[in-house]
Amino acid sequence: MQVVASIEPLAYFVERIGGDRVSVSVMVPPGGDPHSYEPTPRQMARLGSAALFVKAGSGVEFELNWMPRFLGLNHALRVCDASEGVRLIPMAHADRHDAPAGRQGRHDPHFWLSPANARVIAANVERSLAAIDQPHRGEYEANLAKLDGELAALDGQIRQRLDGVPNRRFIVFHPAWGYFARDFGLEQMAVEQEGKELTPVQMARVIRLARSAGIRTVFVSPQFSSAQADAIAHDIGGTTATVDPLSREYQGNLRRAAEAFAGGMR
Ligand SMILES: [Zn+2]
Repeated sequence: MQVVASIEPLAYFVERIGGDRVSVSVMVPPGGDPHSYEPTPRQMARLGSAALFVKAGSGVEFELNWMPRFLGLNHALRVCDASEGVRLIPMAHADRHDAPAGRQGRHDPHFWLSPANARVIAANVERSLAAIDQPHRGEYEANLAKLDGELAALDGQIRQRLDGVPNRRFIVFHPAWGYFARDFGLEQMAVEQEGKELTPVQMARVIRLARSAGIRTVFVSPQFSSAQADAIAHDIGGTTATVDPLSREYQGNLRRAAEAFAGGMR
């Protein structure tokens, strides 16, 4: 079964649930920005033979801009909404995302960076694969049961790792870690404003905030330029650390992120 996922982390769930029965391709490539990516002609062609499209469904700009075209190209294409059943966080005012208001208004789209939400994603993907390929639904169910156990364990491990961290606030350039923060009782302070470079006044505000909160680490995504993050880190006498919101290696990446947050929030 040909499956297309809009972003790398979603492909992880398709591979784990579908196993050898699926061949998954990803629209936004590693290093690409899902808030502005445009598909290549080759990707558009590949959509014609896909049985299932797995979308984030949480307001990622790439999907809002392109889903109607994808469905127009392939009328038999089924869509799995990976965020179905997830409690989305209403969008804060200071954010780069400027998606048009949907039926439930604007939300923080980065819901996959939460092990609890990952269990919902896994169940949504399983339901979609089983509906298309009913003869093998037992396999998908078994794969889901195994993955769900791993994700529950991952949640517990990250909770344990972050429990003893005294400083609960962190500064991150791109605001991708709101769900992670909500899950583990942390507070995300985002630097980036509407995807634009910060003005000197905004820079000064962030630096003041970081100093008063005793913050020494500025977290950055590999997908976004970190020149301003470097400047802020330099000014507060701290460093930057990279946390990836779009890794396909889902569990190891979240473990590494938890380790980075724990180390950077002492
Ligand atoms: Zn983002």
